[in-house]
Amino acid sequence: MTNKDVKKATKSVWAGEKKYRVHGATQVPTVFSVAYNYDDIDEWYDVAIGNKEGHIYGRNTNPTVQSFEDKVKILEGAEDSTSFSTGMAAISNSLATYLRPGDRIVSIKDTYGGTNKIFSEFLPQLNIEVELCDTGDHEQIEREVAKGCKILYLESPTNPTVKITDIKRMVKAGHEAGALVFVDNTFATPINQNPLELGADLVIHSATKFLGGHADALGGVVCGKAELVEPIYHYREINGATMDPMAAYLMIRGMKTLDLRVKRQCESAMKIATYLQSHDLVEEIYYPGLKTHPNHDIAKEQMSNFGGMLSFALKGGMDTVRKVLPKLEYANRAANLGSVETTVGPARTTSHVECTPEERKALGIPEGLVRYAVGIEDVEDLIQDLKRALDIK
Ligand SMILES: *Cc1c(COP(=O)(O)O)cnc(C)c1O
Repeated sequence: MTNKDVKKATKSVWAGEKKYRVHGATQVPTVFSVAYNYDDIDEWYDVAIGNKEGHIYGRNTNPTVQSFEDKVKILEGAEDSTSFSTGMAAISNSLATYLRPGDRIVSIKDTYGGTNKIFSEFLPQLNIEVELCDTGDHEQIEREVAKGCKILYLESPTNPTVKITDIKRMVKAGHEAGALVFVDNTFATPINQNPLELGADLVIHSATKFLGGHADALGGVVCGKAELVEPIYHYREINGATMDPMAAYLMIRGMKTLDLRVKRQCESAMKIATYLQSHDLVEEIYYPGLKTHPNHDIAKEQMSNFGGMLSFALKGGMDTVRKVLPKLEYANRAANLGSVETTVGPARTTSHVECTPEERKALGIPEGLVRYAVGIEDVEDLIQDLKRALDIK
């Protein structure tokens, strides 16, 4: 892109493609070749050692994958980016690049279930100390970070109760303690929030969700300063959690409508949250766009819109959930989010299936909590669908 000031809707469509559209193709070709031929042996060497641009082997780089990386990089306003086979690979590889035995990491209790498992199970095995603070308790995070840590790892909004953390404030605390600040931006998407602009060092996405947007490809991506992303790329090229070219193609195609989809999803989520708020069967509704959300003001400050994710607790817990969810006509009951179809599921079988009931309770996740990932359907139809499903008398 020659003009960095064009809006995100334009970037979603055009960014990161031109260089890769060979043969005059109007779409980025999917290059399935694993290896690349060099008639000139010296040129081959120059590319291999990084003195010349080009490709050697698919585990390291691939043009279709790079086009996807460039698109996300431009949307996040980053200097560099690298991609992965899944969002969890992006997270685990980034952590593994920077953590060493004896290091300490500070995070929050409400990270994505898989991330939480890395913190509770795998990092302690490597003699890495993990301190998980109450999400939204900024004073506690500041206190723990000030004791010293290598990484402050954040996610905002969180899964599934859409809690908000003040990223700017936490970045200040992290940097004062000499820590790197990582932010999982999956829920917000680059359309609604750019953590690098708020001072974060690295931004991570599960591209499987909103970026791809069609629930048909797995992927992850990390963006930040080149000097920070380069070692993560190196870790990944050797350890092998590389994105597949077909997945990259689907991501690029999906991202063309990212701005369009996310805007629709935000608008609908707000209307659905407002509707659910007034329903008798709904005990609690979680959406950062509502004034009743405890950190609505922070969300308003650091996000341009409040996202397509909301959750609600139904009166009567799981018994009610079992009756209501099967009645929804326009929703997949599935462990996913961020797709064009509305996707719904209880937290205990989706984001936090890895946790025990006790662990979920400690995280403040009611057993009857339903996560509702708004799709791009007409919002009136979705509200009618919910109305029908909630009428269980
Ligand atoms: C899904 C998700 C992940 C993990 O991504 P995968 O692509 O499933 O590996 C990480 N963080 C958040 C917030 C997610 O929603």
